[in-house]
Amino acid sequence: PIYMDNHATTRTDPRVVEAMLPYFSETYGNPGSVGHSFGEEAHEAVEIATGSIAECLHADPREIIFTSGATESNNLAIRGVAERNQRRGKHLVSVRTEHRAVLEPLERLGQSGYTVTLLDVEQHGSSQAGWLDPERVAEALQDDTILVSVMLANNEIGVIQSLAEIAAVCRHSGVLLHCDATQAVGKIPVDVRELGVDLMSFSGHKIYGPKGIGALYVRQGSPIVRYSPQITGGGQQGGRRSGTLNVPGIVGMAKALQLCVEEMPTEMERLADLRDRLLTNLQDRVTCVSLCGPATGERSAAGGRLRLPGNLDVAFGDIDGEALIMEIGNLAVSSGATCSSHEPGPSHVLLALGLGEDLARSSLRFGLGRFNTSAEVDLAVESVSHAVEKLRKLGAR
Ligand code: PMP
Repeated sequence: PIYMDNHATTRTDPRVVEAMLPYFSETYGNPGSVGHSFGEEAHEAVEIATGSIAECLHADPREIIFTSGATESNNLAIRGVAERNQRRGKHLVSVRTEHRAVLEPLERLGQSGYTVTLLDVEQHGSSQAGWLDPERVAEALQDDTILVSVMLANNEIGVIQSLAEIAAVCRHSGVLLHCDATQAVGKIPVDVRELGVDLMSFSGHKIYGPKGIGALYVRQGSPIVRYSPQITGGGQQGGRRSGTLNVPGIVGMAKALQLCVEEMPTEMERLADLRDRLLTNLQDRVTCVSLCGPATGERSAAGGRLRLPGNLDVAFGDIDGEALIMEIGNLAVSSGATCSSHEPGPSHVLLALGLGEDLARSSLRFGLGRFNTSAEVDLAVESVSHAVEKLRKLGAR
């Protein structure tokens, strides 16, 4: 089978595995055990990896907090800031198209005395579908707003938000800005200073690194970003997130990010070309294919891309995406029929674009990545077009 579900997760790059291996059974000390060489060597590996990650993101090493993944990072940022700043206010702002790992913590806060405003995005049919106008953020801010959370790149439709403009709005009002950059880091240039974010989540397994490791960037300097730790215990990472550090994971994520950044200039072009080939050939072979999310060649006002290079989401209208995936068989993609195996009903992201339930259910999401080739794209087009034709003949919904 061909793997084109790189937004769900990625294959760990063999070069990453190689970098991690010594940290399982050779350099296995606890980086917190500074009294002996085992601990010191592990501590040193973590220092080097942290420095490398910080450099890739134009951050300071002290600004990186390791977590178990982006879900935990999002929870730490949102719940941590909300808990710590509740005397200043209890209003939070986010977007309808965010990942569940942002929406769920917000929903929980909504049940315990906070108020949450979820903003709308540009609608299906617009060449900027899914894009959040920074003006909407400005209009949503209140005197008691403490945090805005906006993702950088969407995991379903690949839309890239204008974080720098949103950051300017937030800074002007003294409101903290969190960004879930899980799908953006390693795929498009991410410079925390240029983006102007206060907190930013990312994860190892989306960038050809291991699963179970992620990080939260927390800006240092003034004004101070205040938040309450959510996992307490041994006081590791200055008490900001306790628990023995995942040394192989940290080393692996650092190597993974370094490779992504080194290869980014050519890889972005290569993936955009593959994606365009996939879309063009699908549209040639299949009737009534509609693109979900922003136009693939669309640019933001600041001149940046509006869509992740490797992302494609298309709806077929009259067939069920799950049935389509079953029919295709040899292609690993995901469908908007369910947002995830844990979420019943069609994707909340597609519904937020204004797609009807049936159209949302008929969609496929492709996530092209490092190991995909143009031959695979051509095979995918073959498989999808045959399956669509067959299901349409059967009149299956
Ligand atoms: N945010 C976004 C945008 C994602 O795509 C994902 C992964 N699907 C997550 C958060 C959660 O990341 P993790 O699996 O590292 O917890």
